[in-house]
Amino acid sequence: MSISDTRLPERIFLSPPHMSGGELGLIQEAFASNYIAPLGPQVDAFEAEFARISGHRACLAVSSGTAAMHLALRCLGVGPGDEVLASTLTFIGSVSPATFMGATPVFIDSDKATWNMDPDLLAEELADCQKRGHLPAAVVPTDIYGQCADLDRILEVCRPYGVPVVADSAEAVGANYRGRHAGKGAQAAVYSFNGNKIITCSGGGMLASDDVSLIEKARFLSQQACEPAPHYEHKVIGYNYRMSNILAAIGRAQLAVLPEKVEAKRKIFEYYRENLTGTPGIEWMPEAKYGRCNRWLSVMLVDPKDFGVERDEVRLALEERNIESRPVWKPMHLQPVFKHCRARINGVSENLFKRGLCLPSGTQISPSQQLIIINYIKAIRNHRANNLK
Ligand SMILES: *Cc1c(COP(=O)(O)O)cnc(C)c1O
Repeated sequence: MSISDTRLPERIFLSPPHMSGGELGLIQEAFASNYIAPLGPQVDAFEAEFARISGHRACLAVSSGTAAMHLALRCLGVGPGDEVLASTLTFIGSVSPATFMGATPVFIDSDKATWNMDPDLLAEELADCQKRGHLPAAVVPTDIYGQCADLDRILEVCRPYGVPVVADSAEAVGANYRGRHAGKGAQAAVYSFNGNKIITCSGGGMLASDDVSLIEKARFLSQQACEPAPHYEHKVIGYNYRMSNILAAIGRAQLAVLPEKVEAKRKIFEYYRENLTGTPGIEWMPEAKYGRCNRWLSVMLVDPKDFGVERDEVRLALEERNIESRPVWKPMHLQPVFKHCRARINGVSENLFKRGLCLPSGTQISPSQQLIIINYIKAIRNHRANNLK
């Protein structure tokens, strides 16, 4: 297959930012107020608006999703010698905060139907932890690619042990679970507005909870733990994690178009699926009946037996054409940095990592650009099929 002559002049990115047009007006407002600072009226408004759409009683805007997770674990008292049970199929930002607190992650594999933390495996692990006399300090399920984990079952499994749940809903802003926003119902939930997420501030995160005192404690810690005093007085060590007022302005304008973004992402996914149905060896990320995925990324599975080509050959062929795609997250239990950690593995995440490919899913991608990708994927397969004849 000759590829170089069909290289696209403009790269198609995986999930680039997509501004709504309202951002500059709010940034100008922020400038006019001269709150060129972390804190300020844009941050307050962003927190209030996010609390409204996510249904949480309180929200804290911070510098990243990772920072939000760090604060959540700190407020729940996670510390040295503790264990934190986490999804193995996730991004590192979900798990590194446990290590910041001196705790050790323990990884739980996915269930096949949702790709998220398998509640049965979690139940087995918790029972074993109880037998050992060492219950985890927290459970952190990820809502992978914008599909909610089965939060009610996870909460039900954790409740008898009194173990708190922090939902990593970093990828799931705008997704829904049994009629509630992703993450709502957990002791705390974490969201990300990194540049590649469904809405972005360029960088940022949100910690949300119905426990107002948890959010107030996190707020105190996120601002260097300054005691109320005219001078700077410190009794504990905090962090510098607040969100800038300028970035909150961007976040507010993005949040205003969140429903449209979810619809656009879902349409992008459907377009891929409809047009590639019938191509042997391709499957799609399933959608759980209990919720509505935001389809942050459109994820396809390649079965090399039926498709004729390995996932990575597809990725490299797309790359040669200037199209960015990415393998599904490498499970945490396979990461060199976590090789000493315990894991309860059923093979699902390893299989998804081997076969899964995230396709360009930016909300400004056009149907004709998608068609180029779709036809190219078909061509990759036909080329191989013809070579085998
Ligand atoms: C993006 C992401 C994070 C971290 O968010 P940042 O804002 O990039 O720090 C955490 N967990 C998951 C699952 C993510 O995708």
